[in-house]
Amino acid sequence: MLHAAGFFPYGIVGGSTNLEEANAHLQAWACSHSRSSLARALEGGLDFLDGLIIPHTCDTMRMLLDLWAQIHPLPYMENFRLPRQVNRSSARRYLLGELTRIKEGLEEYRGAPIKNEELIRSIELYNQNRKMLRKLNNLHSRYPGLFSSRQLYTVINASMIMPREEVNRLLQVSLEQLEEKENKEAKNGHMPLLMSGTLLEPFEVLDYIEEFGGTVVADDFQNGYRYIEADVSTAEDPLEALAERQLNRIPSAAFDVEYNPRRHFLTGMAKEKKATGAILLHLTFCEPENFDGYDNLKAMQAEGFPAIRIESQFGGTGLGQARTRIHAFMEMIGGGSR
Ligand code: SF4
Repeated sequence: MLHAAGFFPYGIVGGSTNLEEANAHLQAWACSHSRSSLARALEGGLDFLDGLIIPHTCDTMRMLLDLWAQIHPLPYMENFRLPRQVNRSSARRYLLGELTRIKEGLEEYRGAPIKNEELIRSIELYNQNRKMLRKLNNLHSRYPGLFSSRQLYTVINASMIMPREEVNRLLQVSLEQLEEKENKEAKNGHMPLLMSGTLLEPFEVLDYIEEFGGTVVADDFQNGYRYIEADVSTAEDPLEALAERQLNRIPSAAFDVEYNPRRHFLTGMAKEKKATGAILLHLTFCEPENFDGYDNLKAMQAEGFPAIRIESQFGGTGLGQARTRIHAFMEMIGGGSR
């Protein structure tokens, strides 16, 4: 919708390690994602933005907009109040109302209506982006020697902050080159792993996994597979189609459905991708993940997948400990240094 309105959508996923000023505004239990994102704004790293939309994924996000508006206001600021219980019969109607409200606000800000043709053009562009990223993801899980897990997730994250037209052009070229190479550089001996969590951070964990012979072949991160797994239909009303996608995305800790279907999704994905183990990355103080994390760990272990839970932080702290634990885990499941 932002793209259709002529704006440049830029996904903020943390970014600053200088947290001192943000610490003065946030409670000790706020997660490091919110903290480092706010810190980045306070140090001027987001001054190119006209506006900010914060989705309601947890209480921290719900309150962050008001705080941000007081200490570092932008011309356009809005909450995106997503339905939390996505399988309720009222969720669709509620979400459509919310999407309409956001659309009207953007129209007022840009001074012109957002036409359906504009929305459909943008939906097609984003679908194309996700389709190519899924291809890249599949190539990586089939042929881990082609490029590293860190490279894969760097490209996915770049797609959240670069103009999508440019990303798609670069992806097209890269995919053609990689597809030509795939038979030659398929590499054996890597141990396929599943990762799970709210956000993939820090990326150094991917280096440690590869250092000890692993490859990430499946995940459910917001800045990973969850970002690319589903497209938006172009056969129906654009707002209805956007709502439909949101309500049918893969399970996430932030959007509740009774009986935590996420653990079944994760074990199913681990089986499908023939994972030899799972690393659950738990962003410290991520409130929704606190509720899911233990269930997910136990479900993986009950299905016979060795699994560990590692605490992570935006800001690069605790890396040494993460490396040691990943090393021990990889040795336990039969990996080791490459
Ligand atoms: S969902 Fe988790 S990671 Fe995201 S803002 Fe809330 S607490 Fe932080």
